[in-house]
Amino acid sequence: MPSPTPPAQEIWFLTGSQGLYGEETLQQVAEQSRRIAAVLADVPGLPARVVWKPVLTDAGSIRRTCLDANTDDRCIGLIAWMHTFSPAKMWIAGMDALRKPLLHLHTQSNVALPWDTIDMDFMNLNQAAHGDREFGHVQARLGVPRKTVAGHVSDPVTTARVETWARAAVARSELATLKVARFGDNMRDVAVTEGDKVEAQLRLGVSVNTYAVNDLVEVVDSADESEVTSLVKEYEDLYDLTPGLRPGGERHHALRYAARIEAGLRTFLETGGFGAFTTNFEDLGGLRQLPGLAVQRLMAQGLGFGGEGDWKTAVLLRALKVAATGLPGGTSFMEDYTYDLTAGQQLVLGAHMLEVCPTLAAARPRCEIHPLGIGGREDPVRLVFDAAPGPAVVVGLADLGDRFRLIANDVDVVAPPHPLPALPVARAVWRPRPDLRTSAESWLTAGGPHHTVLSTALTADHLDDLAEMLRLELALVDHTTTARRFRRELRWNQAYYRLARGL
Ligand code: MN
Repeated sequence: MPSPTPPAQEIWFLTGSQGLYGEETLQQVAEQSRRIAAVLADVPGLPARVVWKPVLTDAGSIRRTCLDANTDDRCIGLIAWMHTFSPAKMWIAGMDALRKPLLHLHTQSNVALPWDTIDMDFMNLNQAAHGDREFGHVQARLGVPRKTVAGHVSDPVTTARVETWARAAVARSELATLKVARFGDNMRDVAVTEGDKVEAQLRLGVSVNTYAVNDLVEVVDSADESEVTSLVKEYEDLYDLTPGLRPGGERHHALRYAARIEAGLRTFLETGGFGAFTTNFEDLGGLRQLPGLAVQRLMAQGLGFGGEGDWKTAVLLRALKVAATGLPGGTSFMEDYTYDLTAGQQLVLGAHMLEVCPTLAAARPRCEIHPLGIGGREDPVRLVFDAAPGPAVVVGLADLGDRFRLIANDVDVVAPPHPLPALPVARAVWRPRPDLRTSAESWLTAGGPHHTVLSTALTADHLDDLAEMLRLELALVDHTTTARRFRRELRWNQAYYRLARGL
């Protein structure tokens, strides 16, 4: 499965200065920058270790540090701070060579100025206010992708923004080595689930390949009977089993087969080192059920998934699940299914045929079996639940032919206004921001997909940071969006991304 035991990931903390100040000042710089790094290292939820590096005062050591960062798989990104004045021509070679995410932290050692005692020594030691401007200038001139965060590290807003960036950086690092298994191709005639896998490997790092579904069937059929039994026990512990599915029930065999699919899928994915996968109901080979419960449970364990061969959403889901690790809330494959267009209370009902991740569930899921018209196989077992209310983000990845575009919408997941007794699938009901009309019109104008990732764990800020690292467009619909401004933004972006890519 995804990276068995990843090496302890690291964020390198770089401090810029120069030789001009003398040894004593540089020692103070080192001491104070260690303290700043230590505060960051203690930020709860930071997904990597902060590693302090000795103060950099010349072009050679800066370049060497950046090259080392590029080749060290533990390093997911760098934070740089110019405590004093670090003439930025020294940073050109290093910044030009850097291929890891960068956060420019614009901070200083002290919070308040010591107004009564401040002298020129203090001024010379604490001059990030202009040292960081020098650094910002050269980054802008080189076009270095980066996030700039200004503020003291004792301010929770500052550290929260660093954490958000770090979560995006682990997602980016995951993408760099991610392998996706597709069982079959994508659904026939569907446009938006198509895409350029070569371009995806170049831009994102991910490697996407197809496997015959009957290769999976072989592993499913040979799954260990005792493993099936222990999975069924787990289902009894975790979910409310519909009576027919319980041991002794007339459909218990279907639950056992669903467990067999889960065991087989997990073995297949673990053996191949895959972090995400897709299925296609048009190509089930010898599978007796469309995988529902198995997919839901593998998503809950952190794997990426896309229905109907949708590898782009599978990739996105895996990356965002990695970013969300340890955060409250859930992250799932999702599809905009149908609307309630009642004036003044317009809502989206999101679901899929079966595959919604139980990390979204508001309460203990029910495990049920129902017929499914699609796929032409035996009735599939699935988990049924409502998604827990809360702020969320919905995001999709589209291939525009010459590049990828992320489209996202800030939404509020709400409790369904009415029970849904006849709907046998897991679902989420949400109110898009700023309103359904603007959201839907903007999404359609941007060519956003119907398959998405819905996350109540992440925010648009995580997406924004990840998009910057990957140099992807993020078209965001939020509470400030107007359809007209959004349309113009898309046009400007279109021009920008064509120019930015060169000829
Ligand atoms: Mn679908």
